[in-house]
Amino acid sequence: MINMAVFHGFLEAIHHLPEMAKPEVLTDDERLARAKKVIRIKMDRGLALDLEACVNCGYCSEACHFYQSTQDPQYSPSRKLDLLRRVHARETSAFAPIKRLFTPDITVDDLKEWQPLVYDACTECGRCSMICPMGVNIARGVNVMREVLFEAGLAPLELLAVAQEQAGRGTVFGVGATELVQAVEAMRSQGIHMPLDEPQADVMMVTSVIDILLYQDALMATAKILNHLGVKWTLRSAGFEGANFGLLAGSEALQKEASRRLIDEALAIGAKTVLVPECGHAYPALRWDARLDDGLPLPFEVMAVSEYVGQQISNGRLQLSPGDPTRRITYHDACKLARHGGVVQEPRAALKALGVDFTDTTPTAETNWCCGGGAGAFLINRAEGLRYKAWEIKREQINATGADTVAVACGSCRLNLMAGAEKDQWPVKIESVVSLVAMQLKD
Ligand code: SF4
Ligand code: SF4
Repeated sequence: MINMAVFHGFLEAIHHLPEMAKPEVLTDDERLARAKKVIRIKMDRGLALDLEACVNCGYCSEACHFYQSTQDPQYSPSRKLDLLRRVHARETSAFAPIKRLFTPDITVDDLKEWQPLVYDACTECGRCSMICPMGVNIARGVNVMREVLFEAGLAPLELLAVAQEQAGRGTVFGVGATELVQAVEAMRSQGIHMPLDEPQADVMMVTSVIDILLYQDALMATAKILNHLGVKWTLRSAGFEGANFGLLAGSEALQKEASRRLIDEALAIGAKTVLVPECGHAYPALRWDARLDDGLPLPFEVMAVSEYVGQQISNGRLQLSPGDPTRRITYHDACKLARHGGVVQEPRAALKALGVDFTDTTPTAETNWCCGGGAGAFLINRAEGLRYKAWEIKREQINATGADTVAVACGSCRLNLMAGAEKDQWPVKIESVVSLVAMQLKD
């Protein structure tokens, strides 16, 4: 049972994030110089190709929930990369000296105008790239734009505040090792085996601020499943936060620092597997982006917990008792898990094993609609109206399944769905995949 008072307290805390941010004081010339420097550094072959390949066909707009729900041309995915395109044309393209004659230079006003486009109006979901006939990777370009704006001192204050808190004190929303220990103690008092700071373990479990504050059901469920499987696992108080606000804000340095904490702990205990919690962006941050200091791949496996649980069910190691066959459950694919990570079948295998009436959405899997609140958009106060517009697409898609429950494998999606549900008095239950599985573990 979710504590709605905590949920509302969390929403209220988001409103005060801008007061906590410490933005850099920069002149306009400094902002522009920093922005251009990042664009030059990031302009590799892939990005240059993405910028040059676009034929302005407009198909990507049809795929974007922000454009679809508003029909506002400023939210066209391709347009979100226009500043990169202009700098590339003027400075790094093959015919730069000629293109410079008819391509206007970017200005600080342009950077400010693009801030809501690449933070509020893009969840880096990647759906547009799946539709694009030229294969333009718009989500990557938007991520570069976030790095550009972060370096120019123009990241939204909400994301800046949380990224600075995570880099400085190592906490997120005030949740650090002390709060983790309190949560662990509370679960131990309910009779759940919760290993913490074990010196050696095969599986290191990562959690997140949102699970400690609000979705303790998911944290507890993961523990119950690992205990049921007889796995030697542990949480580590010096590295437990899966959420990576450096990635969301656009700071590569802060992103690496947050990943470093997890990597160090996993190496220290000789973990073979690191389990990422139900948190969409935590998964690509560690699985795809993180590297050892020397650039080599991580020497352990990184798995999303829904992926791990689905695999254990599919290979017969985890068996569930029969559920209610009249209960109709559908699944919302978190973009970072499904489209970016290929975690599609495993959560479905887990849900189908519940013995309920599982009904998929249309479209589904890699082409499923985004919830509208990912990549930090949920934390940006200004984006609230736009998020709700995008949520309407998700709501109608789920309604069309006739499901009484939607299962999610991402705490951020869960937050956004809960906010939409509360606004619309939406009756569909919103549940975590691991929590549903843990409720039906076979003795
Ligand atoms: S990545 Fe997603 S949110 Fe961003 S422009 Fe593409 S479809 Fe829209
Ligand atoms: S679908 Fe691809 S080629 Fe067409 S406008 Fe969008 S980014 Fe450009």
